[in-house]
Amino acid sequence: MSVYPCINIRLNTITQNAQHMVATCKSHGISPAGVTKLACAYPEVGQAIINGGIHLLADSRIANLKKLQQLDAEKMLLRLPAISEACEVVRYADISLNSELATLQALSAEAVKQHRQHQVILMHDLGDLREGAFFEEETLALARLAITLPGIELVGLGTNLACYGGVEPSSENQSSLLTIAAKIETENQIKLKYVTGASSAGLNIMQRGELPRGVNQLRLGASLLMGIGLNDDPVPNTRQDTFDLSVEIIEIKVKPSLPANSTALDAFGNKPQFIDRGLRKRAICAIGKQDVDINQITPQDSSILVIGGSSDHLILDISDSDINYRVGSLVTFNLSYSGVLQCMTSEYVNKHFI
Ligand SMILES: *Cc1c(COP(=O)(O)O)cnc(C)c1O
Repeated sequence: MSVYPCINIRLNTITQNAQHMVATCKSHGISPAGVTKLACAYPEVGQAIINGGIHLLADSRIANLKKLQQLDAEKMLLRLPAISEACEVVRYADISLNSELATLQALSAEAVKQHRQHQVILMHDLGDLREGAFFEEETLALARLAITLPGIELVGLGTNLACYGGVEPSSENQSSLLTIAAKIETENQIKLKYVTGASSAGLNIMQRGELPRGVNQLRLGASLLMGIGLNDDPVPNTRQDTFDLSVEIIEIKVKPSLPANSTALDAFGNKPQFIDRGLRKRAICAIGKQDVDINQITPQDSSILVIGGSSDHLILDISDSDINYRVGSLVTFNLSYSGVLQCMTSEYVNKHFI
C-alpha cells in the first residue's frame, strides 16, 4: 500500500481530551463512555481513550467492538442490536442499548446459551425521533418485561438527542428522562446504574450546571476525538488537532481556468460550472471522491483553492501560495467530522498513528 493519502491521528491529543473530559464530567457527577466509531474503533484509538481514564468504550457497530476485544475496558453497543447479530452482541458487548422486546428476547436466549449476563439500557425518545419508544407507558412496559428475561440485567435508561431531529439536550428533557428512570426503579424495585442523557451535544448544559442531578453518563465521541460538541462548536479546553490528511502532488501545470469547450457532463453526471480566473498554476493530488467528499477537506495553506475533483483526482489552484510546491510535495488538509469518518473508513487512505 502506498504511503499517501494518509490520515494522521495524534493519539496524545485524544488522551489529553479524554483526561480533561473525565475531570470536568466528574465535577458534574458524570462518568463518560468513550465512543470510538468516528475512528472505526482502531485499537490504538481505544487505548488512547483508556489512557485518558475512560474505562467504558462504546461503538455503534459490533464489528468495531470486536476490534476492541483485547482492550481492558467494558464495551457498550450504541446502535440497537439486530436480532440476527444477537450471538455476537452477547459475546462482544457487555452492555447494549435497546428498545424492542423481540430483540431483548433474542439477547436473553443467547445470554443463557453462552452462560453470560448481558446488561441492557433501554432507550427512550424525548423528541429527536431516532431510537426508543416515544410514549412513556411503552418504555415502562418494556422495562417490566425486560427484568423477567433470564440472562438479561436491566441497568439503565438512556436517550439520544441532537442526532436526527436536531433536538438539543436541555434540563427539561433530561429531567423527563430522570422521571421515567425513577418510575422504572420504583415499579420494579431495582436500582438503575446508568442514566445516559446525551452525546457530546450534552456537554454545553453540563458545563452550565444545568444537567439535573441523577443523569450520570454522557456518551462522548466527537468531543474526545475532535474537541467538538453541539453544532460542531469547539469544547472549551479541548484540542481540535487530532486528525489531518496528507496528500501527494502528482502534477503541476499552468492552465486556463475554463475548459476548452465544455458540453458534456462530468464523471458524476453533473453539468460543471467554471469561474474564469485566467491562466493559473494548478496541482493535481492523488486523492479523489472515492476517498473523501472534497467539500469536507480544507487546505491548511489558506492560499490554496480547491477547484474540484473526480473519483481519483483532486485539483487545486496553488497560484497564490508562497510555498514552492513541486511534484512529490505534500499538501495537508483539515477535516470535518464526516471527512474524518470517510478517511478512516476508506481502505485507500493510510492510517498514521502519531
Ligand atoms: C455516535 C453516538 C454517540 C456519540 O456522539 P458524539 O457526537 O460523537 O459525541 C452517542 N450516543 C449514540 C447513541 C451514538 O450513536
